[in-house]
Amino acid sequence: MTRKLAAGNWKMNGTGAALDELNAIAKAHSAPAVDILICPPATLLMQAAALTADKPLDIGAQDCHPQASGAHTGDISAPMIADAGGAAVIVGHSERRENHNENNDLVREKAQAAHDSGLTAVICIGETLAERESGDTLLIIEDQLSGSIPDGATPDNTVIAYEPVWAIGTGKVPSLDQIGEVHDFIRKNLTERFGDTAQGIRILYGGSVKPGNAAEIFAVPNVDGALVGGASLKEADFSPIINALEDEA
Ligand code: PEP
Repeated sequence: MTRKLAAGNWKMNGTGAALDELNAIAKAHSAPAVDILICPPATLLMQAAALTADKPLDIGAQDCHPQASGAHTGDISAPMIADAGGAAVIVGHSERRENHNENNDLVREKAQAAHDSGLTAVICIGETLAERESGDTLLIIEDQLSGSIPDGATPDNTVIAYEPVWAIGTGKVPSLDQIGEVHDFIRKNLTERFGDTAQGIRILYGGSVKPGNAAEIFAVPNVDGALVGGASLKEADFSPIINALEDEA
């Protein structure tokens, strides 16, 4: 069975001093029963990867450009992330979809670029509050799944993160039934498209996961881990979440 995954998204937080927290996370989990991925800002990628090179903890980026190189000021490419020691990259985070007008086609191209560079693409999907309230959640999820995932997705190169936009950074969390409904739907959709291999594609929940709610979320069927924002910045918050996931492994 594929290992569960605790992934941290540091967003635009952290200068060199934050590497102390990374060190502490690595130290607290020297032989984890789950996979651990930390996605620091791009400025820390190389240092973070070097620091954890001999540790059971992967480093990833938070975005990549679909092209390998070129005149794209400020962007970083998937080959650059791999070269810096990254193993994965988040694509299609709702903050990118919203702040940078990223649509499903672009997200799929970014995920493809990740695959082409040997990186795992952590592909984020999720409905807004308005979409949930109008009863369109599963339609939106279906649209994002078919539009954002490349045809060559496998359990090794792809992770799906279901992140209701209204739950990110807000302290609001869907009910366990709501999480379960969407995760079951995602599994069914992936299986229809990719066959039995889709059983191994990890589906993470993301949105205000904290030490206090992690265990109940991880007990929901088809939740294979979490993508954690705020609570991944400090070892004291992230460690209990990793421990809760290990209890379900
Ligand atoms: C995220 O940024 O992907 C996220 C889920 O953030 P938070 O855990 O802070 O809600």
